[in-house]
Amino acid sequence: MKLRRRRTAIFLSILTVTSGFVLPASANRRRPLSTAYVSQPQIAQLVKEIDARNIERTIRKLVSFGTRNTLSAQNDPNRGIGAARDYLFTEFSKAAQQSGGRMTVEKQTFEQPKAARVPTPTMVTNIVATLRGTQPESASRTYVVSGHYDSMCGSPTDAVCDAPGGNDDASGTAAVLEMARVMAKYEFDATIIFMAVAGEEQGLLGSTYAAEQAKMKGVDIEAMFTNDIIGNSLGGNGVRNTNTVRVFSEGVPSNEKPEEATVRRGVGGENDSTSRQLARFIKDVGEFYVGGMKVMMVYRRDRYLRGGDHIPFLERGFPAVRFTETNENYNHQHQNVRLENGVQYGDLPEFDDFNYIANVARVNAAALAALALAPARPKNVAVVTARLTNDTDLKWDANKEPDVLRYEIVWRDTTSPVWTNARAVGKVTSYTMLRMSKDNYFFGVRAIDKQGNKSPVSFPHPVR
Ligand SMILES: [Zn+2]
Repeated sequence: MKLRRRRTAIFLSILTVTSGFVLPASANRRRPLSTAYVSQPQIAQLVKEIDARNIERTIRKLVSFGTRNTLSAQNDPNRGIGAARDYLFTEFSKAAQQSGGRMTVEKQTFEQPKAARVPTPTMVTNIVATLRGTQPESASRTYVVSGHYDSMCGSPTDAVCDAPGGNDDASGTAAVLEMARVMAKYEFDATIIFMAVAGEEQGLLGSTYAAEQAKMKGVDIEAMFTNDIIGNSLGGNGVRNTNTVRVFSEGVPSNEKPEEATVRRGVGGENDSTSRQLARFIKDVGEFYVGGMKVMMVYRRDRYLRGGDHIPFLERGFPAVRFTETNENYNHQHQNVRLENGVQYGDLPEFDDFNYIANVARVNAAALAALALAPARPKNVAVVTARLTNDTDLKWDANKEPDVLRYEIVWRDTTSPVWTNARAVGKVTSYTMLRMSKDNYFFGVRAIDKQGNKSPVSFPHPVR
């Protein structure tokens, strides 16, 4: 890097002398972000260990319970949501046995009162497997990955019909279980929670309870991923796409306060929520570790007028995103299983692409591992506005992790979807980008540890 920098400097000084121009802003550019990651053997290895055959086995087992409607039987060992709940508890517990006592599994149960899609009070149970972080300064920092194990046929309140839910959402549930199985053997600085929730089809009941509990207990959830409908690589539009997954992230936070909206209108940032930074991080890391997979960022909280289990987390101020296949097939979602004019309806496992699900799980796992190995995103990142200048003065709080090596300033044109440039600035808590105006670029700060693990980017707020 040093050699290259020197050469750039010489070139630029010649440019300055011969042309007499003021240095263009691009003179500050160092290297594109796409080359910014150091491959971590641990992440590369765990990505490899994710096995499509395990995912297929889990999905077929979940489908074998006939229905997993939240209102279905709780105590029948063979049919209904109770059978699925107990099966998942057993499987997550098996995964925990690989963790040397670091992973614990619990049933998070609550009674859901009567509601729009809940005709009588109903017990709802989430299966929650917590893999505790091993770095004391990071162990309270928590990342959540989730799928919903309940299913529905045509009607959300029909507890009797067959509702195989092979894609919606046995696919997401199986991916989360496979991540737990693989990742339990590895150590991470921060804590990862692997979760299978119920009551999604009844109105995000399980995830709402989990998010509310986390908020009440003050859990520091720095990211939440929901995997919902990640199983089908052939869309109802006839498009087969086996190498792209959509990651939905909101631009303006669901819990934005009016005074925060005023600041945002003053400085920009409707494309720079913490959830959007998370989506950029997932794209960077996922595509780096999972060859051939593309992350299609969608600048929406969820699909058009639709919702998912990340929303209760967003509403409580936790950054969250949704993973979903690129082209959905509505013949296989929320349908009674039937053959009609030669067309098969119903969410049957034969419409799942298990290798595709494994790849989506790998993107998740790489991003989760990268998050949980890296330092926290820097806090209280600010643009100091004390002077009117063409420079940009940035400051932030020092990270508390002992292995933080340095910080990087990243930037991009205001019209760019992703961060395009980075500059290492050492172990400092302020830095001035000379001759680069905050009017013309978006800036951010991230923390890097001694092994080269990088945090997500923090977007600055203005301070005087
Ligand atoms: Zn779903």
